[in-house]
Amino acid sequence: MKILDGKSTSASVKAMIKKQANSLIEVGIKPALAVILVGENKASKTYVNAKEKACKECDIASIIHRLPEQTKQEELLALINVLNIDDSVDAILVQLPLPKHIDEKIVLESIKDSKDVDGFHALNVGKLSSGLDGFVPCTPLGVKVMLDEYGIDVSGLNAVVVGRSNIVGKPMANLLLNANATVTIAHSHTKNLSEICKNADLIVAAIGKPKFITADMVRDKAVVVDVGINRLDDGSLCGDVDYENVSKKASFITPVPGGVGPMTIAMLLSNTIKSATNRAKKLGLK
Ligand code: NAP
Repeated sequence: MKILDGKSTSASVKAMIKKQANSLIEVGIKPALAVILVGENKASKTYVNAKEKACKECDIASIIHRLPEQTKQEELLALINVLNIDDSVDAILVQLPLPKHIDEKIVLESIKDSKDVDGFHALNVGKLSSGLDGFVPCTPLGVKVMLDEYGIDVSGLNAVVVGRSNIVGKPMANLLLNANATVTIAHSHTKNLSEICKNADLIVAAIGKPKFITADMVRDKAVVVDVGINRLDDGSLCGDVDYENVSKKASFITPVPGGVGPMTIAMLLSNTIKSATNRAKKLGLK
C-alpha cells in the first residue's frame, strides 16, 4: 500500500506556483486573490486564514474582506461588483457557508466567471461538463492532480464517487469522466452501495460520515481517495474511510489529515495563477 501524500504533493505544487507568480510579477502582474468572509463562523475564519497564509508563501496578494454577520445581500453583491471590475483583482472567492439571510446561489452567480476560482459559477460548471477549459472546483481538481502526480491513469478504470455535492462529488465525477474513467455516482438513495464499491478500481469518498467506507466494501488493490473531514468527539479528525482497515487492502490511499485537504488550497492558488496569466496574455505581456 502506498500513501497518496497531499502534504508533499501540495508543497511541490506550491513551489511551482511561487515560480509562476514571480515570473508574472517580473512582467508587472501581481497575482491577486480577493476573499470575502461574512460573519463569525469559526471554521470559515480558520480556512480564510489558511488561504491568506498560503498566498503569502507563494507571493500572491490576498485581499481579505471581513464583513459583519448582518451584512445585507445587496451590500455583498455591491462589493463583488467592485471586485469584478477591478483589473488588479484576478480571483474572487466568497467563503461558504453564508449567513442564512443571504442567497448563496445569487451570490455565486454574481462573481465574474473569469475570476471564479472556486469554479462554482454555472458557466464554469458547464465548461467542466462539456470538457472545455474553465475553472474547476479546487477539491476535486486537487484529487485529480494528486492521482496524476502518482502516475495513476484513470482511463478505463471503474470509478465510484460516493457523494454528489456541487462542490465535490459532481465535479469529481466529471473530471474522472473527462479522463475516460467509467464513473458511477452514488448518494444517499443508492441501493447496494457495498456491491457497487466492491466493483470499483477507484473510490472517491465525499460523504461527511466518519469511517463510512469499510474494508468489506473495498476490493483488493483499489485506489481509495478520502475527501471527508469529520471531527470526532475526542477532537481528532478522521475521514469518510476506515483508514486503519481499508489501508490494508488498498493499493493507494489518502490519509486524513494530510491527503486531499492540503491539495485544495494549492489548487486555489493554481487557479489564481491561471487567471493572472490570462490577464497578462490579454495585455500582451505573456
Ligand atoms: P455534502 O454536500 O453534505 O454531500 C454529501 C454527499 O454524501 C451527498 O451527496 C449525500 O447524498 C451523500 N451521502 C450522505 N449519506 C450517504 C449514504 N449513507 N450513502 C451514500 N451517500 C451518502 O458534503 P460535501 O460538501 O460534498 O463534503 C463531503 C465531505 O468532504 C465532508 O466531510 C466535507 O467536510 C469534506 N470536504 C473536504 C474538503 C477538503 O478540502 N478536503 C473540501 C470540501 C469538503 P444526497 O445527495 O442524497 O444527500
